[in-house]
Amino acid sequence: MKRTLPVLLALGLVSLGIVTAQQLPPGQIVRRPAEGREPELPQPKIREYHPRSTLVVPEHKVPRAKFPVIDFHHHPPQSMTVDDVNRVGDAMAALNLALMIDANNTSSARLKPAMDAIAASRYKDKMVMFAGLDFRNVGPGSGQKIAAQLEADIKAGAVGVGEIMKSFGLTNRKADGTRLHMDDPELDPVWETAARLKIPVLMHTADPAEFFAPLDYNNERWLELALYPDRRYQDRSRFPSFEELMGERDRLIKRHPDVTWVLAHMGWHANDLARLGKLFDEYPNVYGELGAVLYDIGRQPRFAHDFFVKYQDRIIFGKDSYQPDEYPYYWRVFETNDEYFDYYRDYHAFWKLYGIGLPDQVLKKIYYANALRITPKLSRAGFPAN
Ligand SMILES: [Zn+2]
Repeated sequence: MKRTLPVLLALGLVSLGIVTAQQLPPGQIVRRPAEGREPELPQPKIREYHPRSTLVVPEHKVPRAKFPVIDFHHHPPQSMTVDDVNRVGDAMAALNLALMIDANNTSSARLKPAMDAIAASRYKDKMVMFAGLDFRNVGPGSGQKIAAQLEADIKAGAVGVGEIMKSFGLTNRKADGTRLHMDDPELDPVWETAARLKIPVLMHTADPAEFFAPLDYNNERWLELALYPDRRYQDRSRFPSFEELMGERDRLIKRHPDVTWVLAHMGWHANDLARLGKLFDEYPNVYGELGAVLYDIGRQPRFAHDFFVKYQDRIIFGKDSYQPDEYPYYWRVFETNDEYFDYYRDYHAFWKLYGIGLPDQVLKKIYYANALRITPKLSRAGFPAN
């Protein structure tokens, strides 16, 4: 009784709003849920509550990027027929997309037909291929074999590697049944070949950290995880943890300082840009690609602005899934200072976006100049000289 009284008193003071957050035990969040009231009306389901914003602020929609853009992370239809290429190409000019990099992890067998389709399309200068790597059943000698295949694919016209899919690290098994660790020395010849050929390697590792975290009502991605069972990596008997994968990735990068590593989805650190900045500082051969993380950039406009300015030589535009009507959201976040506007995917983000208002010089770098610099096999034709 003697002990509980002060606690009860403290709780009472908290509910009266007298005790400030600083006086609560560290880490405890002040919540004041309307003095214990429960809603008298039926409560909406999580997907039914869409409050109309009454905020009136200036709006600047950006249907077309201010400078030509290279999409470093493009997934065209797997079929890659001439019609497929034409359909993608038809939507590019209006968005100011100048070049699409097919990052479908294309196998050697599909590479030539895909390049033939591009060459026969109306947009033969608007799409290029990355080569895929086959990491299934790796065993002794696999590294040399994959490296030789990569060299042949680059000779045949591919301009880089990728996208190395998240299965690398997460699920790929070796021939002996064990999980293929990303930094397995068997693969050294592959990375040495990429370094020697001076081609960028676009690599997707893990998924957002929340996909590995407990699936409770505090999980920021609860809705997405509820919708998509194949994005749940909570079972440690089947999947490594997020940090285990990040550790393997970082050791792989450290082991191969001559490879141009492009971390897809900003390495899944867009929600913790300081962590990505540390990685950039430590490894000058590392770049971040922007695909599918706009919801994180757009919720931290000031910090993200400063990060983009500081690391303007290390960030590369990529979109991931190809939906022409989604690109203008990216242009608006990068180019304007608009406030509190909607994102296009409700299960990614329960919050609004803000523009980060990048200067022209930074826009040019992330839109095309950085991609051109790290991909020597790309033609400079059609891009501004500076
Ligand atoms: Zn991708």
